[in-house]
Amino acid sequence: MREPNHAKKTEWLHGEAIMKEIYNGGMQAYIEKQVSHIEDALSFDGKKFVVMCVDERLLFGQEGLFNENECPVQTPGSFILCSKEEREKIFTNLPISGFTSHEGCGACKVYAKQRGLDEEDTDAHGKEFGQKIVEELREKGRDVYYRHITGDEMHHPKEFHIARVVYYINTKTFNPFALSEDERGRLPIGFGISRAHFNEGIAQKDLKLCISIAFGAHGFGNLFTEEEPLLIVPVAVDEDSLENMKTEVNDVVKTFAVEDQKRVKIDGFYSV
Ligand SMILES: [Zn+2]
Repeated sequence: MREPNHAKKTEWLHGEAIMKEIYNGGMQAYIEKQVSHIEDALSFDGKKFVVMCVDERLLFGQEGLFNENECPVQTPGSFILCSKEEREKIFTNLPISGFTSHEGCGACKVYAKQRGLDEEDTDAHGKEFGQKIVEELREKGRDVYYRHITGDEMHHPKEFHIARVVYYINTKTFNPFALSEDERGRLPIGFGISRAHFNEGIAQKDLKLCISIAFGAHGFGNLFTEEEPLLIVPVAVDEDSLENMKTEVNDVVKTFAVEDQKRVKIDGFYSV
């Protein structure tokens, strides 16, 4: 099994220069210097909200996967792991116009496992769930489209996760596709959790899952160390909100084993 490790190491090295600069100077300074138009990614006025998975290969997918007018709302498997009650409560206040599922979704696999369904058929479960949700919303008079995103539209490779960070997003949106290709390429690749749209409990549960994936067999795993930790990046509107988000994230980090806590660092930014 030498091949996957080699492939992982290669992908890991792709992100090395960006991560070194962030580890050394901090996220806030990095964003202000390297992604100076970050405001464009955080702007949501008059735009559409599209539900998608937390998978980093979506938010950092192929050019054109999403456009600058689509604001991602991200939670694992587009709510597939949420209870019906939880989901319906969230949808009441969520101004969404699009709903997506994607190829090779890990959350759909968890869903299949929980229900004793065929785990190899994750795409079918994701599609079935997505179509059902969109139908329900349309019955309530909501104008929502459905879309299944293929592996070719996503960031490659398909075989494992390449997230070096987890964005814990407490701004209404965070859309890298609204940035120039250059600036988008300078953002570290990461999972996205739309904290601003959910309550604390759901977002924290999502974060726990993302950290587990990053540290697990489908993520970079043991390549994360104390020297090169997984970064949890709260994205906030101001300094006060950033402090609150750091506390909230820390509560999740504390639930991991001590050795793993050392391989996580919380370092966010706010828009200035
Ligand atoms: Zn997914």
